[in-house]
Amino acid sequence: MRFSFIYSPKRCPICDVQLLHRGRVCHSCKKKIRISRLSRENRCEVCFFPRIGKGCGYCASRNIFFDSHRSLYPLNRSWHSVLNRWKFENDRYLHQLFLPALFRLAAREKKSFDRIGYIASGKSGWKNRPYQPCRDIGRIFAEKQGLPCTADLRKKKNTKQSQKSYSDRFLDIHDSLEAAGSILPAKSYLLIEDVFTTGATANEAARILKKSGVFSVTVWSMLHREDLDSCRVRPGDGIGYDSGYGLTGKEESGKY
Ligand SMILES: [Zn+2]
Ligand SMILES: [Zn+2]
Repeated sequence: MRFSFIYSPKRCPICDVQLLHRGRVCHSCKKKIRISRLSRENRCEVCFFPRIGKGCGYCASRNIFFDSHRSLYPLNRSWHSVLNRWKFENDRYLHQLFLPALFRLAAREKKSFDRIGYIASGKSGWKNRPYQPCRDIGRIFAEKQGLPCTADLRKKKNTKQSQKSYSDRFLDIHDSLEAAGSILPAKSYLLIEDVFTTGATANEAARILKKSGVFSVTVWSMLHREDLDSCRVRPGDGIGYDSGYGLTGKEESGKY
């Protein structure tokens, strides 16, 4: 057990106010969390980006390999601080904040899965923390369903995406993930992800899974970083992916 776990004062992971119990969120942040939950209203059934007019610009402008994506919360300022503490400051217990909304989503979506998985961190992830953040969530959820939770995919390399051109970044997406072993075929696969930014990582994961015999891929992300540009159709954006790289570039710098 880390010493900081024993001696650090108990504080709300969002607003930093002092609390009686560690691992809790203060009353006012709890309320804010509840109201910030994302709803399906006016969002695309497949990618979950907000619809702009008729149809979905995001889905129309690229090849989507996942069958459906949902996110629990928007990556706003409060969730930013939770995310940084969860992923970079060893506050492993913060995964618990997502569980109630995750189970609510499962009840609402009424989907049955035969496999649950997550993307294992690359080397830089292990430098930041001695645990896999999404594994904790995936395992708790999978256990309730009586299913296994496995890291079928892992991040492959950590190149600084910010220094790359648009086309280099696009090409790198194909080379950013790899199967962590032999992927067993599945009818319905649920991928648990921490942050959905451009969807490029989730899409590449789904592509690899499907190539390995998975029939349908659902992606559930804890947080959605919404950049309105990514749901608009851009001229010349027919390659199949957007310019973003999901998370790995951010992990390089250590903070979101
Ligand atoms: Zn608070
Ligand atoms: Zn869409």
